[in-house]
Amino acid sequence: SAVRRIIIAGNWKMYKTQAEALEFLQAFLPQLSETPESRKVVLCAPFTTLSSLSKTLHGSRVRVGAQNIHWAKEGAFTGEISGAMLTEIGVRYVVVGHSERRQYFGETDETVNQRLLAAQSFGLLPILCVGESKQQRDAGETEAVISRQLERGLVGADQTNLVIAYEPIWAIGTGDTCAAEEANRVIGLIRSQLKDTDVPIQYGGSVKPENIDEIMAQPEIDGALVGGASLEAESFARIVNYQS
Ligand code: PEP
Repeated sequence: SAVRRIIIAGNWKMYKTQAEALEFLQAFLPQLSETPESRKVVLCAPFTTLSSLSKTLHGSRVRVGAQNIHWAKEGAFTGEISGAMLTEIGVRYVVVGHSERRQYFGETDETVNQRLLAAQSFGLLPILCVGESKQQRDAGETEAVISRQLERGLVGADQTNLVIAYEPIWAIGTGDTCAAEEANRVIGLIRSQLKDTDVPIQYGGSVKPENIDEIMAQPEIDGALVGGASLEAESFARIVNYQS
């Protein structure tokens, strides 16, 4: 396949006020001076921080991402945010189908699909999250679960303009990282189900400075989606600057 496109994205979840976000950048940006140009760096931040992040990051190599998008262009959808609202302020990426949204906010493969299609129609790059629970893994259902999430999540999608994040739910925020070889195996299975085998596929789940080098040494893994360890400038910089 062609040259791997590496994308390291932070997912800040519901952390950081605007002031805290800008404080992070002050400490983070100087640490990117040695980062190879080929690595894309993205911060998926709370809605209230996106505008000022985008202004501050203008002309830098760091891209801004949102953590959700509604499927309608506009309308009576209290509490939701549209693609036009995001692109207007310079947002380039958007996470769809994160397991926390599936678990706590009723997202289904169908709503995830609608959000993904909306992102693409606005020229945003969706980061589609898939991954099995502990119970599903123990029952030997990992492949079936992921295959269903991909099939339903990608209905009607442009398969050349997206990023996929493999995030085993049991590894998210638990400190219990998926073994690098196992993440590589599942990501290989994901790749074999895609029309475009050059789609960047990230691993997510307790990525930290201590395990990023091993994760990125895996041939199928094109980057990481990082929660907890992206909140602190030092640790996220160390992840972005992984040793290859
Ligand atoms: C995530 O939220 O996508 C994630 C992987 O979280 P953490 O890195 O904290 O496990």
